[in-house]
Amino acid sequence: MSNQLTIEKSTHQQPKPDTDQIPFGRTFTDHMFVMDYEKGTGWHEPRIVPYEPLTLDPAAMIFHYGQTVFEGLKAYRADDRILLFRPEKNLERLNRSSDRLSIPPIDEEEVMEYLKELIRLEKDWVPSTPGTSLYIRPFIISTEPNLSVAPSATYKLMIILSPVGSYFSGGLTPVKINVEDKYTRAVKGGTGMAKTAGNYSSAYQAQAKAYEQGNADVLWLDGIEKRFIEEVGSMNIFFKINGEVVTPSLSGSILQGITRMSVIELLEKWGVTVTERQISIEELYQFYEEGSLEEAFGTGTAAVISPVGELNWLGKKMVINNHEIGELSQKLYDTITGIQTGKLEDTNGWTVEVK
Ligand SMILES: *Cc1c(COP(=O)(O)O)cnc(C)c1O
Repeated sequence: MSNQLTIEKSTHQQPKPDTDQIPFGRTFTDHMFVMDYEKGTGWHEPRIVPYEPLTLDPAAMIFHYGQTVFEGLKAYRADDRILLFRPEKNLERLNRSSDRLSIPPIDEEEVMEYLKELIRLEKDWVPSTPGTSLYIRPFIISTEPNLSVAPSATYKLMIILSPVGSYFSGGLTPVKINVEDKYTRAVKGGTGMAKTAGNYSSAYQAQAKAYEQGNADVLWLDGIEKRFIEEVGSMNIFFKINGEVVTPSLSGSILQGITRMSVIELLEKWGVTVTERQISIEELYQFYEEGSLEEAFGTGTAAVISPVGELNWLGKKMVINNHEIGELSQKLYDTITGIQTGKLEDTNGWTVEVK
């Protein structure tokens, strides 16, 4: 590693919240990680500095053409240890997203060390109340002041940290989801497989429509035929049908969730048949009418497992498992959160301790 990390400590320390009511993404820790990229030099000057606003040229490319990617993962308190859940998968995915956005790759092992160093420095920020964690947001922005429509010559990689409360403060609660029939999140060949800003802002109108009708989120269908099920908001989606589990295959327009991957691996271990395939909303509705749609749940870092109690599609309502949490959804939730918080033995080698 040719780069040398420098650490500049903050002179003041903020109070650290520790309740399951911390609102998502509004409180940040005392320090952040920054590293710069310049064409010719590569990634350089890794540093941990006091958390502070950035100064950017108004012509910085990020503001105009959105050349940016991000990640989301969490640090969990497991008694006196701090655990990360499959963090190498996040850095791998960051590089896949970067590749799609023509952003130069990072050295994953090098950045993993910086990430751990930042968590080590901010370890007192990892809350201990059940259900809480320290959310980790790595992101890259393009910074060259240049209005040409072309990849930037300079970038900044940053990592900021935010303590978060529990996603379900009243326990796992099944949600209502609107099946979106007008707007599209992504199409094959587009940026759906990348965690990049534009995918999220372009979803706000569909999100608002879902909220107005009393739903908590949007289920996206494929952009071409509006038939095949893709994913929910910032979660992948699973269905339990006749005792077997089905999830949409990664078509290029779906985000490759790390929770999705972990759920598939657990189900296989448990001997539950899990199939990654195309599934249309008509087919799902048919299963529903036959009474064989037993459970539905979203998967993602934020909620881990989010049971779906109701799907609303073109005026048709599918009530799933009587708005109650399914047995398999609960078991997956308990297992994954148990591993993340060190309550269950990690036989898969998924957790990484920050010592
Ligand atoms: C982040 C994200 C997911 C879930 O990925 P995890 O790695 O499980 O957190 C799913 N869909 C979208 C659109 C996402 O942005």
